[in-house]
Amino acid sequence: MRYGDLSPAKRRVARPEEFVMESLNPFQIVQLQFDKAADRLGMPEWQRQLLKTPNRNVQVDFPVRMDDGVIRMFTGYRVQHNNVRGPYKGGVRFSPAVDLDEVKALASWMTWKTAVADVPFGGAKGGISCDPKSMSLGELERMTRRFTYEIADIIGPDTDIPAPDVNTNGEVMAWMLDTYSMYQRRDVFGVVTGKPVSLGGSYGRIAATGRGITQCAVETLRANGCDPKKMTAVVQGLGNVGSWTARLLAKEGVRIVGVSDVSAALVDAAGIDMAQLDAFFSTPGRLLKDFPKKRGTFLPRKEDLIGVQADILVPAATENVITLANVDTVRARFVVEGANGPTTPDADVMLDAKGIVVVPDILANSGGVIVSYYEWVQNTQREQWPESKVNAHLSEKLGTAIQGVLALAKQDKITLRMAAYMIAIGRVAEATRLRGYFP
Ligand code: NAD
Repeated sequence: MRYGDLSPAKRRVARPEEFVMESLNPFQIVQLQFDKAADRLGMPEWQRQLLKTPNRNVQVDFPVRMDDGVIRMFTGYRVQHNNVRGPYKGGVRFSPAVDLDEVKALASWMTWKTAVADVPFGGAKGGISCDPKSMSLGELERMTRRFTYEIADIIGPDTDIPAPDVNTNGEVMAWMLDTYSMYQRRDVFGVVTGKPVSLGGSYGRIAATGRGITQCAVETLRANGCDPKKMTAVVQGLGNVGSWTARLLAKEGVRIVGVSDVSAALVDAAGIDMAQLDAFFSTPGRLLKDFPKKRGTFLPRKEDLIGVQADILVPAATENVITLANVDTVRARFVVEGANGPTTPDADVMLDAKGIVVVPDILANSGGVIVSYYEWVQNTQREQWPESKVNAHLSEKLGTAIQGVLALAKQDKITLRMAAYMIAIGRVAEATRLRGYFP
C-alpha cells in the first residue's frame, strides 16, 4: 500500500515521507528504526553502516534422519550482529517462516535490546526453517543436536550464547548444552541460557520476559497517571511470553479481557477466568480445542483481537501483526510490544498520531535477556540464586532502563521507541568509539 492509496482519514495524520511500503522485510524494518534514531543523533553514514551491518551471517544445511528412516535436509542460521559490548546473545527459533532476513532482523534487535537494558552482551539470533508441530520429539532432538554441532565453532559462553525463542524451550536448550559439551569434551553450562533449573538454569528465567513486560506496562501506566488496577488488557499469543504476561498483569490488578493463540481469540469483557487460564497453561494445548470455556466468546477471526476494547494491547506472538490494514481498529491507549517487531513502521506512525503510547519491543521484552544474563553469571560463578534475588535484580535493572527511556521521551518529546533506540545506539556507538573505530 502507498500513501496515495490511504483513506483521507489516514492521510490527514501522517505525511507522505513518513510512509514506507508495508512490504518491507523485518531486516529492512529494523534498519529503518535504526536510521530514524541515527538521524536524530546526527550519525554519519559510515558509522551507521558499521553499526547496522551484522558481523557474521552463517547458514548451515544439514541432514536429519526422520522417524520413517528417510534423511531430510534442513537449513539453519546463526547471525551474529554486534559484540562490541560483550558476547553475542540471542535466541533460536524453529518455524517455517525462518529465513536469513528474519534472523538478521532479530539479531539486530538483540543488539539494541541488550544495549537499552544495559547488560554486557551483544546481539545474535538463530533459527531453523522447519515445522516443529509436525515433528516428533526424537526428530526435534536429532535436528537440534545436528544444528548445534554445525554452529559449535562459533558459539560458546564467551563468544555467543543461544537461548529459547519461538517453538524452542528449556528442553531444546538442554540438548544444545549436551551436544556442545560433547563437542568440547567438558561440560559448558554457560553456552546457552533458558535451561531447565536442574541443569544450570536460573530460577525466574521462564517467567522473566512476561515479568519484564508487566513491569514496563505498570511503570508506563503510572508515568501517564493511570492506575493499573483500573485497567484492562488483551494479550495476543499464549506461549512463554504471552501466558506469563497475562498471569502477571492480572496479579497487578489488570483485568484481562481477551487472549488469543494460533487457534482462536477468546474475549470476555467481565474478565477471563484466570484460574481456568492458569490450569490451561499447565497442560499444552490449543485455546479453541482444549480450553474448557465456561464464559466468554470466541471471535470469528482471531486477528480481530487487535481491535478489542481494552486499555492495554500486548502483541506477544509474532512479527507484523499491527499493520496499516488494522491499525485503525486499535482501541487501546497503550501497546506494550511483547513480541519482536509486532508493529510495522507505517502502523507505528499511525499509532503515534492517534496518541497511543507504544512501549517498544527492545525495551518491553528485555526481561528475558536480562535474566539470561543473570543465568550466565550464575553459571560462570557456579552459583544458584533464589528466585527472589533474580527477580529483585531484574526489577532494578529493568526499572533503570524504563525510567531512562521515559525520561528521554518526555524531555525530547519523542516516542518511547525513538528514545529507546537513541539510548541503545548511543551505548553501542560509545563502546565502538572506545575500541578505536569511531573518532
Ligand atoms: P512461543 O512459541 O512460546 O509462543 C508463541 C505463541 O504465539 C503461541 O501461543 C502461538 O499459538 C501464538 N501464535 C502464533 N501465531 C499467532 C497468531 N497469528 N495469533 C495469535 N497467536 C499466535 O513463543 P514465545 O517465546 O512466547 O515468543 C513470542 C514472541 O516473543 C516472539 O516474537 C519472540 O521472539 C518474542 N520474545 C520471546 C522471548 C522469550 O523469552 N521467550 C524473549 C523476548 C522476545
